Amino acid sequence: MAMEKVDIIGGGIAGLALAGMLDPGRFDVTVYEQRTELPAVGTTLAMWPEAQQALSRLGILGAVRSRGAIIKAGALRRPSGEALLSMEGEGLLGVSRPELLRLLDTAVPASVHRVGGRADSLSGAAALTVGADGVNSIVRRNSWGRRSAAKPTPFLAVRGVVPGTPSPQDVGEYWGRGEIFGLAPAIGGSNWYASFRSELGPDKVDVAEALEVTRQRYANYSSAVRDVLSQANPDTSLAQRIWTTPPMGRYTHGNLALVGDAAHAMTPNLGRGACEALIDAVTLGGLLNNHSVDQALAAYNRRRVFRTQLLRLASSAMGTVALAQGAQLWRDALLTQVGKRVGGNREGAGTSK
Ligand SMILES: Cc1cc2nc3c(=O)[nH]c(=O)nc-3n(C[C@H](O)[C@H](O)[C@H](O)COP(=O)(O)OP(=O)(O)OC[C@H]3O[C@@H](n4cnc5c(N)ncnc54)[C@H](O)[C@@H]3O)c2cc1C
Repeated sequence: MAMEKVDIIGGGIAGLALAGMLDPGRFDVTVYEQRTELPAVGTTLAMWPEAQQALSRLGILGAVRSRGAIIKAGALRRPSGEALLSMEGEGLLGVSRPELLRLLDTAVPASVHRVGGRADSLSGAAALTVGADGVNSIVRRNSWGRRSAAKPTPFLAVRGVVPGTPSPQDVGEYWGRGEIFGLAPAIGGSNWYASFRSELGPDKVDVAEALEVTRQRYANYSSAVRDVLSQANPDTSLAQRIWTTPPMGRYTHGNLALVGDAAHAMTPNLGRGACEALIDAVTLGGLLNNHSVDQALAAYNRRRVFRTQLLRLASSAMGTVALAQGAQLWRDALLTQVGKRVGGNREGAGTSK
């Protein structure tokens, strides 16, 4: 039987996972990737259990576990560090983005062709072209039209890694008035992130300037937060405006399909974007291996559109609550009551290797 040609635009999390899933006996796969090396800064991505199953199907869950940290618990905190709500036992796995990309790469069969540089147009010669090219996908723009263009949110995300393991009493997400700050252990240090409204961006953001703005913004936070920010430097930090995609009713169009952020870029408030990118890729790859391309694409829409669009909305709703400016006192009072009902404000959030 003749091999079916699949072009994957984008070799990030979704693109590599799809290339790793497709049956090399049936598909002649090419991955187009503009990045020339792994990202230099490795902030942590939280992998939820379903994403861990996807990693297991790719055969790399053990390797990711050995290079990541199990997140056993977390707390929502006031800026002072006082816990509003503690949560345990979600079984999240934290792994740095460069490490995840490196391990996904090991799952890609040697028969997959790699083309470097930016793909600016689609050849149309493949049986299937997949847009795994992130929030500003050219595949989506070319075929779904201008109304599918990504839009910047008003929120800046600044994040990085600093040396030293944080104390369990300081780990968690701090919710202030219109801003959040997160702190968690990572391999080789502490992973931190901050998000708030900002005029910086929406395209390229100067990291040193963003760090300065962040230090000023969090000057009244607990000493743990201030210590982390005083150690942060531009070489080990990232800053960007958060962009999201509009609602989408289908992730396929003729012989095109979208996976990951190209289909459903969401705000990072639920920590689901990379997880869903992996699940998209593994679902689509598994369907393609076992059905005709047309049948697989139809089933892919049925399995993935509703869930991911719901998560896109839920992430944005979570962001609205977390980044509340006016209703912050009500929000914190409510969280404190919830915390009491679910077992008190337990301290001791943390992770283990
Ligand atoms: C601040 C922040 C924190 C986050 N935290 C989490 C978290 O804890 N957990 C989680 O699950 N998710 C998280 N996410 C979301 C996650 O980063 C994304 O959902 C994920 O990276 C999407 O993967 P992707 O492969 O679809 O897209 P991308 O990671 O954007 O990869 C797209 C790839 O395509 C390439 N590309 C693009 N255009 C072209 C082209 N024309 N030609 C060739 N190559 C091209 C790019 O170079 C890139 O390698 C976070 C996001 C942000 C902004």
